[in-house]
Amino acid sequence: MATQETPGTTGTSPEALDEALAPLAAALGDRLLTPSADTFADTAAVFVGGPPLTPAAVARVRTTDEVVTALAVARDAGLPLAVRSGGHHQARHALVDGGLVLDLRLLDGVEIDTAAGVGRAHGGVLAGAYTAAAGAHGLATGFGDTATVGVGGISLGGGIGYLSRRDGLTVDNLLGAEVVLADGKVVQADADNNPDLYWALRGGGGNFGVVTRLDLRLREVGTVTGGMMMWEPTPARLATVLRAFAEGPEEFSGMVNVMLAPPVPMIPAELHGKPVLMALLCHSGSAEDAAEVFGPLRALGTLLDGVREIPYTALFEGPGGPPAGGVGDVRTGFLGEGVWAPGEDWAAAAIEAVAGASGPSAVNIRPMGGAISRVDPAATAFAHRDPAFMVSVGGTAMAPEALPATTAWVASAAEALGVRGRGYVNFMGTATDQDVRNAYPEATLARLREVKRAYDPGNLFASNHNVAPRA
Ligand SMILES: Cc1cc2nc3c(=O)[nH]c(=O)nc-3n(C[C@H](O)[C@H](O)[C@H](O)COP(=O)(O)OP(=O)(O)OC[C@H]3O[C@@H](n4cnc5c(N)ncnc54)[C@H](O)[C@@H]3O)c2cc1C
Repeated sequence: MATQETPGTTGTSPEALDEALAPLAAALGDRLLTPSADTFADTAAVFVGGPPLTPAAVARVRTTDEVVTALAVARDAGLPLAVRSGGHHQARHALVDGGLVLDLRLLDGVEIDTAAGVGRAHGGVLAGAYTAAAGAHGLATGFGDTATVGVGGISLGGGIGYLSRRDGLTVDNLLGAEVVLADGKVVQADADNNPDLYWALRGGGGNFGVVTRLDLRLREVGTVTGGMMMWEPTPARLATVLRAFAEGPEEFSGMVNVMLAPPVPMIPAELHGKPVLMALLCHSGSAEDAAEVFGPLRALGTLLDGVREIPYTALFEGPGGPPAGGVGDVRTGFLGEGVWAPGEDWAAAAIEAVAGASGPSAVNIRPMGGAISRVDPAATAFAHRDPAFMVSVGGTAMAPEALPATTAWVASAAEALGVRGRGYVNFMGTATDQDVRNAYPEATLARLREVKRAYDPGNLFASNHNVAPRA
């Protein structure tokens, strides 16, 4: 292993760093990367770009024992630590300047236990890989809509996607987990073992330990009716789509973006850069029931209609999402409650906001309700159970000099659309104290702090929307 000057490692000389990392170098060999390694930059890169953040080392662990060793090294040397799975969090939690990145991507085992109805994902599995493995048995656990998101990050923060109105959030289907705690103990967290930790993991993110295995409930999901639909943006069309979500069956879900059509192959070239309503939709019930839902949406006059009967797994093929490497900002909030949808005035404001954006920017609207709202807010650390919709305003600057205009657009569009206050921890571009308070109601945050004091009193796991042990 070679090291070089790591300016971000406050007060740690290269020799001291070498010495601190020695047990990890002995355990991992060339899977411990420092900035001089040829593959370091690619390995450390995360989905969202931004100002340079250079870790002192990336540890590509393969086993729970190696996780234990890495945590001991970080703890003993006082090295800041980041835990990385899919690397998709927009606040770039998977990077830490001058510290150690514990990269879980080689912990990529998936076991589909059809008899127990449980999928076991190791800590670095991606949503697409798990979905393909479960899909081979006609089964699924609902995540979001993007294959490259880590099961670890989405399952610990919430998990809102195609199946959540029917089956609940991903956290509602997390049955248990194996967790390596800050002190190196390996514990099980579920309804019977460490129930306080189990509660906190379901929404509290990576604050409490390294999750090396997630046990997820599987449901039968074979062929669905789904895909992309696009319309020219008018307030009436957007309001109709949102009403279809709110009033439709729980088998129907997805999201609609108000955006400029991105230049991706699945969208005809003549639409690229044009303002559109772009929906990714899924109906997991019968084809006849689906036809009733999609009929009125087709009657709106589509620019593109890719909805058809397909295997559920096909919704997770391809990269999805905005282009990787952009720098940006995202804010989320919740609108309404119960069976309710924003009307045409709000829809007009969303369309107007996007017309003023530059670069890849979107107002992303997802229905909640259904099974999400039937869970007691106190049952999991994800407590925002009553909203009808989640709205995210996201902007991406593909060059750093475009960033101020992008963040200003995100702020003004969010304000215009009432996207403020309570938010979803997995869709926050910043991680201030106020963001943490927006993610967790007061009573939830107080309870999370109690669990933090019990399991990570020294706040080793701090590269996240941090629940500090004390307020
Ligand atoms: C293109 C795109 C599409 C998205 N689509 C959706 C969607 O449809 N629905 C939705 O709900 N969300 C969605 N998200 C948000 C996504 O859920 C979060 O960004 C999530 O945190 C990403 O998880 P990750 O493992 O990829 O990220 P990372 O950045 O690797 O991790 C995120 C956080 O989780 C912690 N963490 C991850 N794995 C573990 C583990 N095994 N043990 C302990 N801590 C861990 C990390 O330390 C970090 O704090 C999307 C994000 C992007 C960029």
